[in-house]
Amino acid sequence: MYNVKSPRAEEFIDHEEVLASLKYADENKNNAALIDSIIEKAKELKGLSHREASVLLACELPEQTKKIYALAEQIKKDFYGNRIVLFAPLYLSNYCVNGCVYCPYHHQNKHIPRKKLTQEEVRTEVIALQDMGHKRLALETGEDPVNNPIEYVLECIKTIYSIKHKNGAIRRVNVNIAATTVENYRKLKEAGIGTYILFQETYHKENYENLHPTGPKHNYAYHTEAMDRAMQGGIDDVGLGVLFGLSLYRYEFAALLMHAEHLEATFGVGPHTISVPRIRRADDIDPAAFDNSIDDDTFAKIVACIRVSVPYTGMIVSTRESKATRERVLHLGISQISGGSRTSVGGYAEEEPEDESSAQFDVIDNRTLDQVMNWLMKIGYIPSFCTACYREGRTGDRFMSLCKSRKILNCCHPNALMTLKEYLMDYAKPETKEIGEALIQKEIDNVPSEKIREILKARLKKIEEGERDFRF
Ligand code: SF4
Ligand code: SF4
Repeated sequence: MYNVKSPRAEEFIDHEEVLASLKYADENKNNAALIDSIIEKAKELKGLSHREASVLLACELPEQTKKIYALAEQIKKDFYGNRIVLFAPLYLSNYCVNGCVYCPYHHQNKHIPRKKLTQEEVRTEVIALQDMGHKRLALETGEDPVNNPIEYVLECIKTIYSIKHKNGAIRRVNVNIAATTVENYRKLKEAGIGTYILFQETYHKENYENLHPTGPKHNYAYHTEAMDRAMQGGIDDVGLGVLFGLSLYRYEFAALLMHAEHLEATFGVGPHTISVPRIRRADDIDPAAFDNSIDDDTFAKIVACIRVSVPYTGMIVSTRESKATRERVLHLGISQISGGSRTSVGGYAEEEPEDESSAQFDVIDNRTLDQVMNWLMKIGYIPSFCTACYREGRTGDRFMSLCKSRKILNCCHPNALMTLKEYLMDYAKPETKEIGEALIQKEIDNVPSEKIREILKARLKKIEEGERDFRF
């Protein structure tokens, strides 16, 4: 029985409720009046239910589809402006005891080189990332209680925060590790992590069990209830995601929103971010073996429908996607992207020979961070390295209420400009610097409050003189 507040995965992601939502969506995919009324509701920015959102995703009417895209763009503009936050993944270890059939790190893969960074290697990687200009990382590691116990992850976080190389600093460490206990989540919180990210991979239980035939991850309920335990452990910023391609996308979409509704109903705060990865080629993995893959148009529609359904949740797209696809979905609601990523263990400090790759997936967008910065600015975006909210204690429901009152917008824009300025001073190539300086000058005038504008100008000057790390 569906129960949004139930602590049990099979009740808050009730299979019958997902199927009923898909049936309802199918029956109404050409119902113009209903679709228009859902679009009108979405305009109020209070979010949509998974059933309403499923109707929008199923919509086959060209005129209404256009309206959905237009609304997604509008919400993106109103809430996130033209800012895009940048981050990089950092792979700590690819030892893993699980048997996920879509991932090259699965336990049975005997020919992929297994690596685990020592603290000295973490240092080298972080310095390489700082020298690129990164300030925000997402830690990634396989599940292996012997090789990657929680103590190892905590030690790495401590090392990362302690490194201050030249003007560099990692100011926010997000963590993407296997589902764990409330006690371990509490330890992660105490270590000062930003968001705890865990992809569900697929919400379809039967598929989930087939795709995870061995290892602790086989336990659907333990994995799906992980965010509840994270919240109980005090982590109030959590990031959801599915790996599109594993099950029917419409099923995943409805269930993903049910998960968001569950967190909101139970803890008073929905997910901080939603990621939208699609399955990619990798060692031992052929995406063609998964027959639920989605094309670029469907991918764009999913992004737009998530944007209008959960307007306050950030959306992330990685370098799994091409430059062209990333450009397309930026307009529709993506607020964070990775740049200059390496998906191998130790890949930032040293390029790996192709036949010895320890990468989790093939990066499609291979550009350097500077090229990504340059591109973003040329297509009208402000790249931002802002990490202010988490460092000012604006997390969980505090963050959401600021977001909903829109007061957050007084912070995001000037913070984006100040962190961009730091990047330009410390890391940018000459052409990127020139474009960036002109952009900052232009964007200062778009800060609505005169008082904040004056403080911003003074701080930008101080950054030029060598000071760092200002924030609103
Ligand atoms: S997806 Fe994660 S848990 Fe599964 S094999 Fe890969 S690293 Fe291990
Ligand atoms: S001020 Fe907060 S919400 Fe805005 S970009 Fe910075 S961290 Fe994100």
